[in-house]
Amino acid sequence: MKKITAICGVLFLWAAGWAQSYVPEKNNKAIMVPNVAPVKAYAFNLSNVRLLNSPFKKAMQLDSAYLMLLKPDRLLYRFYKNAGLPVKDSIYGGWESEGLSGHTMGHYLSAISMMYVATGNNEFKKRSDYIVNELERCEQARKTGYIGAIPNEDSIFDKVAKGEIKSGGFDLNGGWSPWYTVHKVMAGLCDAYLYTNNKRALQLVTRMADWTYNTVNHLPDSLRLKMLNCEYGGMNDVLANIYAITGNKKYLNLSYKFYDEFVMGQLAKQKDPLPGKHSNTNVPKAIGSARQYELTGNKSDSTIAAFFWHTMVNHHSYVIGGNSNYEYCGKPDSLSERLSDATCETCNTYNMLKLTRHLFAYKPSAEYMDYYERALYNHILASQNPENGMMTYFVPLRMGTQKQFSDSFHTFTCCVGSGIENHSKWQLVRKFVYPFCTKMERSWFDYFTANKFPGQRYDTFLNTNGN
Ligand SMILES: [Zn+2]
Repeated sequence: MKKITAICGVLFLWAAGWAQSYVPEKNNKAIMVPNVAPVKAYAFNLSNVRLLNSPFKKAMQLDSAYLMLLKPDRLLYRFYKNAGLPVKDSIYGGWESEGLSGHTMGHYLSAISMMYVATGNNEFKKRSDYIVNELERCEQARKTGYIGAIPNEDSIFDKVAKGEIKSGGFDLNGGWSPWYTVHKVMAGLCDAYLYTNNKRALQLVTRMADWTYNTVNHLPDSLRLKMLNCEYGGMNDVLANIYAITGNKKYLNLSYKFYDEFVMGQLAKQKDPLPGKHSNTNVPKAIGSARQYELTGNKSDSTIAAFFWHTMVNHHSYVIGGNSNYEYCGKPDSLSERLSDATCETCNTYNMLKLTRHLFAYKPSAEYMDYYERALYNHILASQNPENGMMTYFVPLRMGTQKQFSDSFHTFTCCVGSGIENHSKWQLVRKFVYPFCTKMERSWFDYFTANKFPGQRYDTFLNTNGN
């Protein structure tokens, strides 16, 4: 038993040396601001997890191959263009060549940074470094702190800064959900810092946060709230994370500029705002509130995150753990009336698993993990084509229908972006289970796993670390 304790000690020491989690171990030097809300369950760092043969390992291998197939220069196409720099290759198809271009690059940077840690393959680190260097060239050419690939982005955000705001569900001054794409780029840079220790990435994302401050901080509430009528992704989440990393409270205060009354205000009052609303516009807001609660202890943020989760899971989710029909939530508790070819957008569950992980970290209950398991196996694993690693936008639940998978280069959508992240971050359930175990049970678990998997103890069952 002493030998086992020693092995655990080494592993925990190793874990503490890596900067890899948004709910970090104590003494993680990459996170300046400790959590105020007490964290009771931590995930293992990805570097401590190596998969044994399993559907998860297969999913990760297929995803790795696809990530290698994609070319960073093609994902960077409009970043170069918008910075006035020469392009190096052609642009990809689908939403990458439309109004949402750049969001895939953000997801890609997150995915390869996590895949580097999860697999130890240095090619992912090289690619992550290359992209950060190229984004730095773009940033230096633009000189505003901003980096982006959205068509007409300068005009869109200049108008916002001047208080000229026209905004609807997916439109902000003629742009397609521009804050959504800004969030993905910033999250990718945060992940490049946290998972590959790239300090340039941190500098770049901090400058983007400063640019965000200059663009929105002075807006009066009436205009700010008008702007937030347009989908804004997880801007509150990434800004709270930048506060946690830098210790600069300016970014925490800024994260609350992305607080809307019509969804978050309702959730704070424990009223269900979801019927008729676009589902995936709203899940990231709850993730941001969960992160804000962890960093501030603000009870209202906790209420928003937990009430959202219970409302979505218990009243708007299908049997596989997914939600939405044609991307929208409907009347609660009447899902049998909405079975179609377009149920369960996969991004929504990618985000619901992130939210679940946050909630479980400070309230480790079986209810959260039961949902996690259900959605992970029945939606996330099922969203990948087991032959070629391509992804589904929807998992259709209408009888007699079939899944439609993405094409490698021509049909980029949001669910391809979140899809390439899904299989790059498998984590371990063991440490999550620990709070419920007696000392004797833990010892037996250690003994069993050490003997069954000598030198490779960490079979894996969970993902969802990361941003
Ligand atoms: Zn999607």
